Amino acid sequence: MAYDPNNIFAKILRGEIPCKKLYEDQHALAFHDINPQAKTHVLVIPKGAYVSFEDFSERAEPAEIVGFVRAVGMVARKLGLKESGYRILANHGPDSHQEVPHLHVHIFGGQRLGRMIQPE
Ligand code: AMP
Repeated sequence: MAYDPNNIFAKILRGEIPCKKLYEDQHALAFHDINPQAKTHVLVIPKGAYVSFEDFSERAEPAEIVGFVRAVGMVARKLGLKESGYRILANHGPDSHQEVPHLHVHIFGGQRLGRMIQPE
């Protein structure tokens, strides 16, 4: 799947659409999910044009991967979730219900999260 530069997260990265920003560095941007599914629900996205984890894991430069993973960890600590715990999730493709075709890692926390998967 080719990267669509008009996806909503690309627009957020370009500053064309606002977001509730939590953290930003050279490799990543973190902001609150617009429709939170847990008490804390934050998205972390890489600055590069990657459709999903599948694309990112195959094409991203090592520095981008390190920068992105470190940013996810830093954001979780910044949210105060280190001790209480959190869940990270990245959807890829139709079975996962990925909606936005720019890689994003969800961070869920701030409450008991229940079991991992709810099959349809
Ligand atoms: P996914 O199903 O993994 O692609 O998740 C997409 C997520 O993006 C959903 O949790 C949406 O609530 C969230 N979302 C969509 N548009 C925005 C936006 N403009 N700002 C923040 N979060 C958004």
